[in-house]
Amino acid sequence: MIVSQQKPIDEILKMLEGEKSVFVVGCNGCAEVCETGGEKACVELKQKLEASGIKVAGCTVVDFMCNKLLDSLKILRHKKKIDSADSILALTCGIGVQAIASVIDKYVHPANNTIYLGGFQGLWPSIEKCAECGDCVLDLTGGICPVINCSKSLLNGPCGGTKNSKCEIDKELDCGWEKIYNRLKKLNRLENFQKLVKLRDYSKMFPSAELRNTGFYDIEKE
Ligand code: SF4
Ligand code: SF4
Repeated sequence: MIVSQQKPIDEILKMLEGEKSVFVVGCNGCAEVCETGGEKACVELKQKLEASGIKVAGCTVVDFMCNKLLDSLKILRHKKKIDSADSILALTCGIGVQAIASVIDKYVHPANNTIYLGGFQGLWPSIEKCAECGDCVLDLTGGICPVINCSKSLLNGPCGGTKNSKCEIDKELDCGWEKIYNRLKKLNRLENFQKLVKLRDYSKMFPSAELRNTGFYDIEKE
C-alpha cells in the first residue's frame, strides 16, 4: 500500500492562488485507507475550500487513480464540470497525481504528500513512479516527478547537460526537466520556473510518531 498524508490546508490554498474554481478528485484505493482520498476526505476538503472562497465545480472519486484508464473514464463522465474549472485538485499519492495529469490537458495540483514506510508498496499498471519523498512538488512541475524523472533528482530546473532532449548521465534516457518544460509550456504555466522549490525537509520523508503508532506502519514494516 502507498501511504499518503494530506498537505496543510495553507499549502493547498497557496497552490490554488489566482484560481477561482477547482474540480476535486479523490482516490478510493490506498488513499481512501489513509483517509487522504475517498469520498469523506473529498467532502471535508471541499468544505474547507468553499469556506476560503474557492468554488468547487465538482467532486468525484476514482477506484484507483494510479490506473489511467479509470481516470480517463471518470474524466469523460465529468467533462463539462472539469472544463469549467481552472484546475483539478487530486487527493491521491504521487503516482495517482502523475497518472491523472498524463491523461488530461488540465493543471493538476497534489493535495497529499506520499511518505516512505518501506516494505511492499503496492502495484500499479503504468510507468509512473514515486520516490515517496514526503514533500510532493508535482504542483510546480506539471505532474511530472523530478525526483524520479531527473537522473540527479534536481528540484530547481535542469543541470544544463541536456543534449538532443537526452540526459547527460544516460543517453538512453529522456531529460526529465525537458519533459517538465514541455508539459508546463503546453499548460501555459512556464512561470513556475520562477518559483524556487524550497530546500527539502527530509524529516517529512519518514512517518511521524503519530503514524508509526497506526496499523499502516505495522503492516508495512513486516
Ligand atoms: S515529488 Fe515525486 S517522489 Fe515526491 S511525493 Fe511527489 S511524486 Fe513522489
Ligand atoms: S540532463 Fe536532464 S535528466 Fe539528466 S541530470 Fe540533467 S536535468 Fe536531470
